[in-house]
Amino acid sequence: MDVTSILNKLNSAQEEAVTSDKKHLLVLAGAGSGKTRVLVHRIAWKIQVDNVSPYSILAVTFTNKASREMRERIDQLLGMSLRGMWVGTFHGLAHRLLKAHWRDAKLPENFQILDSDDQLRLVKRVMRSMDLDEQRWPPKQAQWWINGQKDEGLRSSHIQEGGDPYLATMLRIYRGYEETCERLGVIDFAELLLRALELWKFCPDVLDHYQQRFQHILVDEFQDTNAVQYAWLRLLAGKVSAVTAVGDDDQSIYGWRGAKVENILSYERDFPATHTVKLEQNYRSTSNILQAANAVIAKNPERLGKSLWTESGEGEAIALYSAFNEHDEARYIADRIQSWVNLGNRREDSAILYRSNAQSRVLEAALLQADIPYRIYGGQRFYERLEIKSALAYLRLMLNCHDDVAFERVVNLPTRGIGDRTLELMRALAREQETSMWGAAVIIVKEKRMAARATNAIALFIELINEMSGQHDELPLAEQAEHAIAHSGLVEMHRREKGERGQARVENLEELVSACRNFEAEDNDLPVLPQFLDQVALDSGDRQADEDQDAVQLMTLHSAKGLEFPLVFIAGMEENLFPHKMSIDEPGRLEEERRLAYVGITRAMEKLYLTFAESRSIYGSESFNSVSRFVRDIPKEVIEEVRLQNNIARPTSYAAGAIQSDEGGDTGFGLGQQVFHNVYGEGVILNFEGNGPRARVHVSFEAVGTKILILASANLSAI
Ligand code: ATP
Ligand code: MG
Repeated sequence: MDVTSILNKLNSAQEEAVTSDKKHLLVLAGAGSGKTRVLVHRIAWKIQVDNVSPYSILAVTFTNKASREMRERIDQLLGMSLRGMWVGTFHGLAHRLLKAHWRDAKLPENFQILDSDDQLRLVKRVMRSMDLDEQRWPPKQAQWWINGQKDEGLRSSHIQEGGDPYLATMLRIYRGYEETCERLGVIDFAELLLRALELWKFCPDVLDHYQQRFQHILVDEFQDTNAVQYAWLRLLAGKVSAVTAVGDDDQSIYGWRGAKVENILSYERDFPATHTVKLEQNYRSTSNILQAANAVIAKNPERLGKSLWTESGEGEAIALYSAFNEHDEARYIADRIQSWVNLGNRREDSAILYRSNAQSRVLEAALLQADIPYRIYGGQRFYERLEIKSALAYLRLMLNCHDDVAFERVVNLPTRGIGDRTLELMRALAREQETSMWGAAVIIVKEKRMAARATNAIALFIELINEMSGQHDELPLAEQAEHAIAHSGLVEMHRREKGERGQARVENLEELVSACRNFEAEDNDLPVLPQFLDQVALDSGDRQADEDQDAVQLMTLHSAKGLEFPLVFIAGMEENLFPHKMSIDEPGRLEEERRLAYVGITRAMEKLYLTFAESRSIYGSESFNSVSRFVRDIPKEVIEEVRLQNNIARPTSYAAGAIQSDEGGDTGFGLGQQVFHNVYGEGVILNFEGNGPRARVHVSFEAVGTKILILASANLSAI
């Protein structure tokens, strides 16, 4: 391996950075200018030319994906596989350290990591034990507050109570939460970092060992380090280690999680005699894309300020598509990807980026429909959980009692005296009669083919499922699910389970009901339960592309940082979605949204599509938003508006939805009207909600109180 190939394809500023013999190096440069490339080449240079041992190198990246790629690229440059070098994310490295030094870190050997959901549950539990009202003190807020303190390196004991009642309550929760985590031997993400920092602080010999070892520390995406990470780095570096940091203040997008872009400024002060290099040539994108990105970020005040240019040509215009709704948007994107693939391109060279995770479901549906394999990064694994699968099995049986997989899963869950032997006989009978397990069960009961106890148990199960299915179609999905879960006995079963898990499972079951409440049916003319179950099957990842299959990449804008793709779609370019409605009124947060837009646009190498929907159902309600201000900031010359093409059908639900109004419109009913329902009897209409086939009506029934029904399927008649 010779030196020239390391310097091959580096411009002079990049070469200066790669070969700099100054101890500390700061590379401050815009997107796609080769920062990560410099980092990788500098590592190769140190090993190859300066004879540095890989063992003494620590490289920090932002995602696991990025760290895998970094290792591969270094191996490639050096033509061999490196051992001993530590490459990882801050969280990954902290975890590794704590596993190795659990005693010093005052942790049990087998400590468990809490993901964000687990953490929220634990916070809730602590709050419940304090009798705090969740309405007044939203647990999510408390979770954020606690993490915010930890990101600043503050334990509850460090915080002065003062007279502020809000602060006092948060602090009380923090204390309770700390105690509970301690007792259970669990740690959350923020805690990983804080513990790793405390390991340095309280165990000088451990720190000394690693200071001796890691003589060379390199950090990518430096603009998104938080206070704890920065302090950890500084301690580790000590007086001896050489530190290289690369970053871009315009791409700081984790301020909401405590990242401090000011660390870039502190760096030059804390690591004296730093050699600072700026890179200005962009190698990633066409000039049209770059022009768009530059125009969007230019609106932010207080930038360190750098200008990016490229030698590559204009390239294609940025396409802007205005969709009727999110389904139309998704279909359009799937259609564009298909044409692109038909031209001989690889799917994995395309990416769909979005602001909010909730947007992925509709995009996934469209990709599936078009038979385009896709992969989601950071996808939701909720539906893979045991208790959720059991609850879903009940829902599946409600829909189709001959679903054997679902039947076997829950026929004796919770235990109802249907043992293995009974099931064995049932299976044999089903085979013999060429029927389903359900069919066999019915025969057994009818012909009393088993001992009374077994027959009774089976009869009760059949009755249970029949009773659940009776509710089917009459009620909104959430009520169907609530009813099924309540009658299944799953909740009691998990409540009896000891410890943390059981509680978590009960809460997950509750969460399933709210998932149903938020579920938006794809086709409003079809029953909602089967649509929901299909969706769940998708969400569970079963149909996500295999690791080695060529697949489109779906991810949030946040997770796209550092990556690049020839073809990029940014979906949902609407006010209130992007910029996010929570951020619009706060200048600091709006600026962060703008940086996120800059990150998104600069992921594209050749072609960028921006899409927005005139109407969108998200988070359980429908909204009409105008096109994002970020689109409006892009110079007209580089944008081409896509005219509607014939092959994209106007969805019927959209047309239908426009007819009715919130007053009940042409439903034939009015507020206060007396109505009759087949199951609930007589009642009075209190309210209408939503439009179109999804429209709901609130009816106060004399017998059963207020119910919310789907107007189209409730079969109400006027009295
Ligand atoms: P980001 O800010 O998005 O993380 P970055 O500054 O880290 O971007 P890189 O990912 O390192 O940029 O580089 C962007 C692209 O440009 C990569 O495909 C890289 O291989 C290419 N590139 C960088 N420098 C050169 C060069 N001198 N010659 C050819 N290609 C280059
Ligand atoms: Mg990079």
